[in-house]
Amino acid sequence: MTCSEFLQELTDYLDGIIDAPTRAELEEHLTWCRDCFVICNTTQMTIQIYRNSELYELPEDLRTRLRSAILTKCKHQEKAEEPASSPSESSSNSQT
Ligand SMILES: [Zn+2]
Repeated sequence: MTCSEFLQELTDYLDGIIDAPTRAELEEHLTWCRDCFVICNTTQMTIQIYRNSELYELPEDLRTRLRSAILTKCKHQEKAEEPASSPSESSSNSQT
C-alpha cells in the first residue's frame, strides 16, 4: 500500500467502516510509515476534539459576546489600515 492509497482509506478507517483486509493493510502501513502514522494520529485527535466540543456547546450568550469581540477586533484592524481621513468627504460640505 502506498501513502496516497493509505490517505484515501484513512477516513473510512477512522470511521470504522472499513473492511478487515484493508484495515490490516492500513495498520501494516502504519507500522513502517512515520508520515502516515503522524497524519493518522493528528486526524484522530482532531476528530476527538471536534466530537468533544459538540458535547460542550458554548452558551448562546458567550457565543454572541465572542463573535462581537472578534468582529470588533476585525473592524479595528481594518480601520488601522485605512488612511486617517478622506479628503473628498470634508470638501463636499458647501460653505455659505
Ligand atoms: Zn505512508
